[in-house]
Amino acid sequence: MGSASNDQQNLSACFPARLLDGYQQFRSGRLVEEQMRYQELSEIGQSPEIMVIGCCDSRVSPEVIFDAKPGELFVVRNVANLVPPYTPDGAQRAVSAALEFAVQALRVKHIVVLGHAQCGGIRAFAEEGKPLSPGDFIGRWMEMIAPAAAMLGARGNEPMGTYLARLEQASMVKTLENLMTFPCVRILVERGKLQLHAAYFGVATGGLSVLHNESGAFRPVAQAEHANVLAEPRF
Ligand SMILES: [Zn+2]
Repeated sequence: MGSASNDQQNLSACFPARLLDGYQQFRSGRLVEEQMRYQELSEIGQSPEIMVIGCCDSRVSPEVIFDAKPGELFVVRNVANLVPPYTPDGAQRAVSAALEFAVQALRVKHIVVLGHAQCGGIRAFAEEGKPLSPGDFIGRWMEMIAPAAAMLGARGNEPMGTYLARLEQASMVKTLENLMTFPCVRILVERGKLQLHAAYFGVATGGLSVLHNESGAFRPVAQAEHANVLAEPRF
């Protein structure tokens, strides 16, 4: 016969303590502050204006980096923040489904591809490591990096660190191109109703760089000018 408190103890015994502690903090802190916002969002639904396509990496949480409130960012995360090109072949595609929902149902105004330094997915591709499993899901997923790597050419004598940073950024440019292969994205971009951006987070420094349209280079965002830089669309 399990009492309510026994049930609670059983739950506490197997559910990660870190999450239970964090939830208690959330309940007594942020939830109290944002109770009205949650209530309102539950009634009117979400209407985020920004979609972020980020990496699964635990150090690069878009909500943390951009100090986002509930309902502000529509986030999809995958290994190395990639978007496959448009392929309407009937296969289940998580990124394409999220993208379609963000663009056609939520009508987001911006899509930000958020890459980062020391990306394990990019490194796995560059180092051509042994498959982690017989299915080798990562290896096949990371094949999407190949066009960006081809764009850079052979690494030659370049130090691995700088090469990986260039590959991380080249891959994001390719991801923006892949986004434009989706008819629903292209149409809205061409009508000026949707803007695509790329941003690169330096894990060690916390610095953020944004892809500059004219120069094609990533430029660090200074405190006062970020609004202008982010306002500039890639396409
Ligand atoms: Zn990553």
